[in-house]
Amino acid sequence: MTPASQTVTRFAPSPTGFLHLGHVYSALFAAGLGDAKNGGRFLLRIEDIDAARARPEFEAAIIEDLAWLGLTWDGPVRRQSDHMDDYRAALDELQSQGLLYSCFCTRKEIRAEIEESGFAPHDIPQSPDGPVYPGTCRAMTDDERRQRRAEGTPFALRLDMEAAIKAVGSLAWTDADQGETAARPEIFGDVVLARKDTPASYHLAVSVDDHLQGVTLVTRGEDLFAATHVHRLLQALLRLDTPSYHHHKLLTADGGERFAKRDKSETIRALREAGKTSAEVREMAGMAP
Ligand code: GLU
Repeated sequence: MTPASQTVTRFAPSPTGFLHLGHVYSALFAAGLGDAKNGGRFLLRIEDIDAARARPEFEAAIIEDLAWLGLTWDGPVRRQSDHMDDYRAALDELQSQGLLYSCFCTRKEIRAEIEESGFAPHDIPQSPDGPVYPGTCRAMTDDERRQRRAEGTPFALRLDMEAAIKAVGSLAWTDADQGETAARPEIFGDVVLARKDTPASYHLAVSVDDHLQGVTLVTRGEDLFAATHVHRLLQALLRLDTPSYHHHKLLTADGGERFAKRDKSETIRALREAGKTSAEVREMAGMAP
């Protein structure tokens, strides 16, 4: 059991490329706040549910690069693809609350539906995950759904956002920068929680994992700030613990652009091969040892 006062943080990279300086900053930021010297714990989680993009060689490289940087983590690494049953159970729970529906729309059909309802391309309501779903399949009858499934049409499971918000009322979380922050999950519309090829979405898996791993402080880049609105809602619906949040600034290259996995030059590997020491790489990420 985690003592009430112990800070538990995590670093949760997706093995879809090599770690770069932005990750060094993020990992060291989390590790510093979950430091054992301050009575904390720091966990590592591999977010590999996107089977089309995740690759075992990137996972191995992540572990090796973090070790080279001198990072250690507490307990075993949690690999999401080993825990699909946990996400399935969460989906079953939401289903039993009547909050999920199958959606058979393709991306193309969603776009066509939105355009038909008269939105000019620059006016299309956007959620942090893309265009807000117009709700086409929400009104389908159970018979229709059964038939589409029997025909083998691929489908996603969407959360009925209006019903979900109604079930739990207004919510908030404690944010390091913004203090008490009201959750506004409605900006996502009927968010996808599972797809045929990715049976648990990022939002679902992260919310379940942070709870199961006893994370008390989620640290991650501010590009994921909006995701916290929907994570807070899932916590309430699934009766999961609510951690505090610290959305940190994103480290940028000298020109101001964000580091990305496709920029080969700033990966930890490339820097290491170019002769940099781990202390120098930490320093480049603004995290001097
Ligand atoms: N797996 C996500 C990423 O690599 C981070 C998720 C999180 O920290 O919540 O961007």
